[in-house]
Amino acid sequence: MNKAESPLQLPVSVLNGAGKETEMSLASIGVLTVGDLMEFVPARYDDTRLKSPSDAAHDEKVTIEGTIQTEPSVMYYGKKKSRLTFKMLSGSHVINVTFFNQPYLKKKAGIGDTVTVTGKWDRHRLALSGQVLEVGQYKRETDFEAVYLLRNAIPLKLFRKLVLQAIELYGLYIEETLPADLLQKYRLMERKEAIRALHFPESQEEMKQARRRFVYEEFFYFQLKMQALRKVIREQSGGIVQKYDLAKLKKLIDSLPFELTNAQKKAVNEICADMKSPYRMNRLLQGDVGSGKTAVATLALYASVTAGYQGALMVPTEILAEQHAKSLHDMLESFGIHTALLTGTVKGKKRRALLEALASGEIDILIGTHALIQDDVLFHNLGLVITDEQHRFGVNQRRVLRAKGKNPDVLFMTATPIPRTLAITVFGEMDVSIINEMPAGRKAIETYWAKEEMLGRVLDFTEKELSKGRQAYVICPLIEESEKLDFQNALDVHAQLSSYYDGKFTVGLMHGRLSGDEKEAVMKSFSANELNILVSTTVVEVGVNVPNATVMIIYDAERFGLSQLHQLRGRVGRGSEQSYCMLIADPKSETGKERMTAMTETNDGFVLSEKDLELRGPGDFFGRKQSGLPEFKMADMVHDYRALETAREDAKTFIGSPSFWTGDEYHLLRAMLTESGVLSDEKLD
Ligand code: ADP
Ligand code: MG
Repeated sequence: MNKAESPLQLPVSVLNGAGKETEMSLASIGVLTVGDLMEFVPARYDDTRLKSPSDAAHDEKVTIEGTIQTEPSVMYYGKKKSRLTFKMLSGSHVINVTFFNQPYLKKKAGIGDTVTVTGKWDRHRLALSGQVLEVGQYKRETDFEAVYLLRNAIPLKLFRKLVLQAIELYGLYIEETLPADLLQKYRLMERKEAIRALHFPESQEEMKQARRRFVYEEFFYFQLKMQALRKVIREQSGGIVQKYDLAKLKKLIDSLPFELTNAQKKAVNEICADMKSPYRMNRLLQGDVGSGKTAVATLALYASVTAGYQGALMVPTEILAEQHAKSLHDMLESFGIHTALLTGTVKGKKRRALLEALASGEIDILIGTHALIQDDVLFHNLGLVITDEQHRFGVNQRRVLRAKGKNPDVLFMTATPIPRTLAITVFGEMDVSIINEMPAGRKAIETYWAKEEMLGRVLDFTEKELSKGRQAYVICPLIEESEKLDFQNALDVHAQLSSYYDGKFTVGLMHGRLSGDEKEAVMKSFSANELNILVSTTVVEVGVNVPNATVMIIYDAERFGLSQLHQLRGRVGRGSEQSYCMLIADPKSETGKERMTAMTETNDGFVLSEKDLELRGPGDFFGRKQSGLPEFKMADMVHDYRALETAREDAKTFIGSPSFWTGDEYHLLRAMLTESGVLSDEKLD
């Protein structure tokens, strides 16, 4: 049946008891049709099973049966306020029942009557703050009652009645939305049955089963869209076939001073397969700091050049751009590859010459900051675009860079491990390569958590390292939303350490108020080991590489998120010496303590990111501004992640199978995809 003709599309006013006013109230909470009523998801369920005072949970809403022992008495106070009280015998307990502002209940029941009271239970005072009083023995058809978030638009009782009526009258028109094979495979409730059980579950088990079905449905639909989008991006945007020279690539790999890790090899293979295919690559490369992403990126860029194309690598800061440019140059120069660096500081004649060489194809690989996306930066034939730290660039900046070629392959790199659950949701339409293995021989950084009063010992320890010729970073407290205080803190810490180590060690200072040139000068002298200690705000966070630095001290570490702490820690442990990270923190909260402990227990960024997600929840994980997370009505990305992964695999199979695009049994799913716009070209970002 066509959706437009379905009785589920009828307005709620066809139901008894839904007059004009009710119709308007329902509209205010988004309920217009009979179908909307049926799909309105309960916020929770009340357990209406009878409880005895000895097993009723404290502070919960419970239903208790008993006999009234004392005449209900009403006391009035204030203008319209009243309190009705009586004692009730339930089993062997005498409990105190109170009803606020329902004086009329006095007429309903008296001494000796059997009643059931539903209300909030105070276990310690044996007191029940009643909400509903029913006279006579307990009789209730259901053990669980759905409770809806109605924002006072309509009384709960009326809403329930309307839902019941809708299901009784129109329930038979509910269409199944999941393919039969999936229902069978996972023994999911049919939709019709699940809708009833969602609102009027007969048992806890039924409630769970209904929820399980809808969670899967939500995830499956979502993943179906993502996988369809992925297919569209890959196939319909006409990528380029990059026939790279495998023999040359192997030579470059052999020339490296190290053996690639298995994870690196796998990533290189995945990327190369994408480049060679006629599809446009849209891939995310995730790997912890120091896991060797840059090496992988370099190999990919080189492969692209051997195929006759140019490559671009865009990074968020000048320091990083310079570092990358240098390491790419060192690796590729002897292979006859012409690399170049373009940042905001490249100006005038030099810039003009560079742009000319780029447009003529003389430059093979261009590395730079967002200076790369300026209008007059023109490539000869751009084949591969790589952006590092991808979440720091906006969607638009990435699109502009991509548009400088004709559907170039695109690779995003990120050193912020994103929990798998979030990655497949937020980057659902992307392919993901993960480097989950560190190069061999890397010494694990030892991490300690010290209370503030132990600062002296931390500084003594640091002194020993410095005496061996090593260097140290000291990260100052982060004051949220106050750059001024950050700055002040950095000055204070710098002054303290300068006097503490006076005459022994040199202390540098780095913060956001320095100009680009000044920052660079500081970084260079630290890099050259002219400074023993670098006091810094978090500006030092991204990608800086000073292998001789072995100590990282982080003040007020509890103010940082786990991911950020992990990033900062990644500044050390880059050389062959043992490195140390010391977290100075006095966290007051339990989660603060848990964060510090987690840091001392693992060096694995993926483990920490999962922990971070657990402690902060998905909404806060990316920060309030740019979560980009989809909203699910019932499903919870974190708790239901298994279902999410299953749904993703199923969606992949469906989208990849020809019968999905032709089979009658899938027409509803295809209609959903068309309706959501996924199959149109506009969604291509
Ligand atoms: P990332 O970009 O992931 O932070 P890099 O690519 O900068 O990591 O690698 C960090 C350091 O490890 C670099 O000095 C690099 O030369 C080195 N490296 C990369 N891959 C390996 C490997 N497989 N074995 C040993 N060292 C490696
Ligand atoms: Mg391709």
